[in-house]
Amino acid sequence: MEFQRRGVMLVIASPSGAGKSSISRALFGQDPNIKLSVSVTTRARRTDEVEGKHYFFIDVPTFERMRADGELLESAEVHGNFYGTPRARVEEQLASGNDILFDIDYQGTLQLYENSRPDMVTVFILPPSIKELRARLERRAQDSVGTIEKRLTNARKEMAHYNEYDFVIVNEDLEVSTQRVRSILAAARLERERQTNLDSFVKGLQNQIGSI
Ligand code: GDP
Ligand code: ADP
Ligand code: 5GP
Repeated sequence: MEFQRRGVMLVIASPSGAGKSSISRALFGQDPNIKLSVSVTTRARRTDEVEGKHYFFIDVPTFERMRADGELLESAEVHGNFYGTPRARVEEQLASGNDILFDIDYQGTLQLYENSRPDMVTVFILPPSIKELRARLERRAQDSVGTIEKRLTNARKEMAHYNEYDFVIVNEDLEVSTQRVRSILAAARLERERQTNLDSFVKGLQNQIGSI
């Protein structure tokens, strides 16, 4: 039996390279009920990224206009670039009972906590070791040496916030980590407060007792 429910705002955060994009991609492949919140960013597009799928790539004046006009649910400067979450799609998805996944940093998570805490489930992904984190950043081969060093330096600060997330996963094996996120999502979907028509369902059950 499926109940009507509000969508889950699933936030996945990690230091760059720990694997959140890989986990997210695997999740989308297996579950049609979860959609990505596609952020706007002012950083340059990587060769494997598609406009509108991974990000909307915009210039700084456009970003500033969107932020000033209240079109962003949250926004932050990360690794020297601006990032933001467009508001409209999120509200649309949640109302229609779809879950929405956010690949955002700690500053963005804090901003969402302010207004959306009851809708949110947050997961922090850690790398098994820093040696492995560096190897993954290098293997991805999408960033310059300088950019990789900056991301490793920022990893220390990002990791300091692990204790503000609901769940923590050490991403050793991609398949195991993806399965763990699926379990978290499955449990969140069943939370009592997310199931909007439970009251009338239980009343119906109680009435049936009276009429037997
Ligand atoms: P950067 O590393 O040079 O970009 O330095 P920032 O000053 O932007 O951020 C430093 C750290 O503080 C990062 O881990 C941020 O995620 C974190 N941070 C940013 N804004 C806030 C905030 O409002 N509150 C808290 N507690 N931490 C924040
Ligand atoms: P993030 O989105 O956190 O920056 P990515 O998902 O882009 O990280 O992962 C960084 C690199 O590490 C990619 O090349 C990816 O294929 C690889 N990777 C991710 N998870 C694992 C894993 N569990 N084992 C080995 N390599 C991984
Ligand atoms: P990348 O450039 O590797 O795609 O992302 C860099 C960092 O920016 C990651 O930590 C990612 O989670 C964060 N990020 C991406 N989009 C957003 C967003 O819309 N808002 C915030 N606050 N952070 C974002």
